[in-house]
Amino acid sequence: MSVSDRIKNIPYALPEIGEEEIREVEACLRSGWLTTGPKVKQFENEFCKFLGGSCEAIAVNSATAGLHLALEAIGISPQDEVITTNYTFTATAEVIRYFGAKPVFVDIDSDNLCIDIHSIESAITSHTKAIIPVHFAGHPANMNEILRLARKNNLKVIEDAAHAFPAKYKGIPIGRLESDATVFSFYANKTITTGEGGMLVTNNKRIADRARIMRLHGISHDVFDRFTGTSSNWYYEVVAPGFKYNMPDILASIGVVQLRNAQKFLDKRSVIADIYNNNFANSQIIRPPNVYNGDVHAWHIYIIQLDESLNITRDQFISKLSKHGIGSSVHYIPLHLHPYWRDTYNLKADMFPNSLRVFKRCISLPIYSKMTISDANYVASTVLDIIK
Ligand SMILES: *Cc1c(COP(=O)(O)O)cnc(C)c1O
Repeated sequence: MSVSDRIKNIPYALPEIGEEEIREVEACLRSGWLTTGPKVKQFENEFCKFLGGSCEAIAVNSATAGLHLALEAIGISPQDEVITTNYTFTATAEVIRYFGAKPVFVDIDSDNLCIDIHSIESAITSHTKAIIPVHFAGHPANMNEILRLARKNNLKVIEDAAHAFPAKYKGIPIGRLESDATVFSFYANKTITTGEGGMLVTNNKRIADRARIMRLHGISHDVFDRFTGTSSNWYYEVVAPGFKYNMPDILASIGVVQLRNAQKFLDKRSVIADIYNNNFANSQIIRPPNVYNGDVHAWHIYIIQLDESLNITRDQFISKLSKHGIGSSVHYIPLHLHPYWRDTYNLKADMFPNSLRVFKRCISLPIYSKMTISDANYVASTVLDIIK
């Protein structure tokens, strides 16, 4: 049967929201407590428990906010440089600019599409303050090497784990490695969602305390308790010009249910990844790299690359997919090609050869828990038909 005989409509991404999430939100609305309160506390506690316990989790209204708070807590200032990759969403780098500091972009490893270790090493200067690796697509970055480089050069490490919940690096959950902080995203198309939202996770009490204060206007409630030994619901002190980054209980209500389903969602995405991997073996479709022993890929994004021998461009390929009812995307337009980053830092297209090469021939295929096995088979056979 040719693909045109059985056109489906498969969007690129779809959240999986069930009756349970709807019931939790309804209960929250009926409770009279809408903003940050008991549901956020519950979500934070259960998130830590999911990661294995004894960490600090700070729920925020986006991963961008979480990255901003993490950089604030480690004390970024305008003279500082922060090393990150150009092959990411702009949020990873824009938060560095919030401080007037300089993002120093380095290329990716062409295998796992995460930040390239050797490029980090040569980008370190006396101004370098931190490294922000991205666990690209849900594939863990080479964290041992990154953490070793950071320790050797006295640098902080903030992990952009927007794609990587839940994922593991050498058996350890992302969020529990020895970095300074890890930030997850619950944006609508991420692996679990609250519509908008994020979680900053750290093992460092000082970073956690600072992020909690800065998350809500720089307000500290501790002072009064300390002086009187009683708690008060009216007294507070402003100790810094903070932000408005708190997560409301309405969204945490969605989060607690999504969290309970996180492993099930991952299992379903893994089945889809296996279907794609099996279908594309021995084809001119370049598959995502295998994960190392002990690593767990979150499979937020499934990226294929078109072999250079193929007679079809990335854009032609995408429009053929779309004619067959299949949504797709491109992750990412490298930051150095965007006008702001290009012009502010005088970046040339050929400065990042690996990311440029991947960008020119990459397509992200649908992968989400609501997809059926028959959807995945349809996408796989359509892809193979298109390149035939
Ligand atoms: C989605 C995303 C972010 C931002 O997440 P928000 O929750 O939308 O702020 C940051 N980094 C990467 C790599 C992302 O994909």
